[in-house]
Amino acid sequence: MIGMQADGAGDGDAARAHARAAMVAHMAKHGICDARVLAAMAAVPRDPFIPAAHRGKVDPYGDHPCQIGFDQTMSQPFVVAYMLERLRVQPSEKVLEIGTGSGYQAALLHELGARVFTIERISALAEHARGVLAATGYDSVCVRVGDGYRGWPEEAPFAVIIVSCAPPILPAALAVQLCDGGRMIVPVGEGQQRLVVLRKRGACITEEQDLAVRFVPMVPAAEERHDGQA
Ligand code: SAH
Repeated sequence: MIGMQADGAGDGDAARAHARAAMVAHMAKHGICDARVLAAMAAVPRDPFIPAAHRGKVDPYGDHPCQIGFDQTMSQPFVVAYMLERLRVQPSEKVLEIGTGSGYQAALLHELGARVFTIERISALAEHARGVLAATGYDSVCVRVGDGYRGWPEEAPFAVIIVSCAPPILPAALAVQLCDGGRMIVPVGEGQQRLVVLRKRGACITEEQDLAVRFVPMVPAAEERHDGQA
């Protein structure tokens, strides 16, 4: 029959594409209207980014965070879409992500055409993300193990900085690494957090409070771990 696959793999691909389309429809219904963000979410598979040990426990396309090990989570798709929409990432812009985690959001940024630099403090997660990004065709994303509080001075300035873990206060070093016209989004606070959107115009930085959110904490450098223990 035309369009039918002889083996089960095609069915699996079709089911995943269907699940992605349903996730995108849910985003659109809840107010995400940037067509490029929606198209990126329709294009990037979410399931391979969940480490094997955590797959099958939750629906990877449900609108909730997913465990990725090491007490960390892949953020809720709506919040990822919301942050990307606020940032209006343009093709070829240089983007810094703090908190690589699974690598999923880095893949979305790449899909939006950005040149992506991402920092993760847990080396095993960075290694996992590198592997999945390579396997899914996003191997030009640069992943570094390190302390996100320092940013990535060697690659600065960035047009966009997106932080996917919550510092108690705005990290001073990051805004310095924004270019003129740059934007940054960061969940700030302990327990109760709020997204903060920063915009840099010349020497002037404006700050806008946005949605209430819940992210894992941004851990200070002194607590940096490289032990690879889950
Ligand atoms: N964007 C990720 C979600 C990451 S969860 C995704 O799409 O899956 C937040 C991540 O921030 C965790 O992996 C955590 O280890 C990392 N993190 C916390 N503090 C950090 C710091 N100081 N520097 C770099 N990464 C940090």
